[in-house]
Amino acid sequence: MSEIFSQMFSPVAFPWVALVFGLCVGSFLNVVIHRLPKMMEREWAEQCAELRGETAPPAEPLSLARPRSRCPHCGHGITALQNIPVISWLALRGRCAGCKAPISTRYPVVELAAGLAAAFCAWRLGPGIAAVGAMVFVWTVLAASLIDFDTQLLPDSMTQPLLWLGLLLNARGTFTDLQSAVIGATAGYLSLWGVYWLFKLATGKEGMGYGDFKLLAAIGAWMGWSVLPVVILLSSLVGAVVGVSLIVFFKHGREVPIPFGPYLGAAGIIALFWGHPLTEMIWMRFA
Ligand SMILES: [Zn+2]
Repeated sequence: MSEIFSQMFSPVAFPWVALVFGLCVGSFLNVVIHRLPKMMEREWAEQCAELRGETAPPAEPLSLARPRSRCPHCGHGITALQNIPVISWLALRGRCAGCKAPISTRYPVVELAAGLAAAFCAWRLGPGIAAVGAMVFVWTVLAASLIDFDTQLLPDSMTQPLLWLGLLLNARGTFTDLQSAVIGATAGYLSLWGVYWLFKLATGKEGMGYGDFKLLAAIGAWMGWSVLPVVILLSSLVGAVVGVSLIVFFKHGREVPIPFGPYLGAAGIIALFWGHPLTEMIWMRFA
């Protein structure tokens, strides 16, 4: 598989191809981030209605492919020319072509992040299956983190395939050996599950969700058990700093839940590239 990539792309061209492809994937990720939570909510509403023996009211079909993207203010359909990643947003000066309502800067930022991340994976890992795998990991974690940030949901439809894909790639030792990956997935899930129950028994509150356990399990499956301490340490540190500053500077209510997924995701991405040197650094300091 890796040979196909190295024959198709030179190490110089590969990051540029990845950049362009990543920008387009970023455009699709925007759709996923926006629609997937709505699709999940609709599915739950339908299931609840079914349990009550009612039929859910008919609604417009909603999937990742349909309907076509349109302006939420005026319903203006977005044409292919207005859908070019980053460039269209700049050309339209961040406003809808129909009603001039502002378009969130998050759209081009997500596209740019997906593109630059892909280029970085390609540059750092070279043409091959590891680079493509790393891109898929970063894209999935980016979209899942933003969904968690918006809705406090980490969709199973993203965390679970991510876990399986990690194990599959490591069946041939792409990022770590298979034994380390299997132990990583199990230990990742169980460690946060343990923290959840300790916290719940001590305070009666739920500190995090099951989606967080599954995301850490996926990170363990990709990078092996040895990076888990670094991932937990990094995500808790960043989470604590951001959480305290939200409460102190932005009067964020102490009771309002802060999603943990984005911190876990960010730590996972850092660990994908620098997990082993960071782990060594920590062991040198504390052991
Ligand atoms: Zn509009």
